[in-house]
Amino acid sequence: MALSITDSCVNCWACVDVCPNQAVYQDAPGFAIDADKCTECMGEFAEAQCAAICPIECAIMDELGVPLNPLGSLSGIPLEKLLALHPHLEMA
Ligand code: SF4
Ligand code: SF4
Repeated sequence: MALSITDSCVNCWACVDVCPNQAVYQDAPGFAIDADKCTECMGEFAEAQCAAICPIECAIMDELGVPLNPLGSLSGIPLEKLLALHPHLEMA
């Protein structure tokens, strides 16, 4: 039961300080989450703190590979519009 960070991470460091379990660590060229430390913030916060502060869509995934901040969720751009403009994103 742990989240993970993808190649979309832009190294902003925002998630490092908000993690209550010091589970986020630098793993050049980006960051990673220590699965042994990550609790998905259960019992501590109502939502995963790393994903709540992350400014990048699809940078943090759940254990099934589903993004906590999916395409369009932060930008507000409708998914249909994004896919129409950038068809390759459908594979993302
Ligand atoms: S879900 Fe919570 S415990 Fe896991 S890495 Fe993110 S902030 Fe840390
Ligand atoms: S908040 Fe998001 S973009 Fe910033 S370091 Fe963490 S995973 Fe990467």
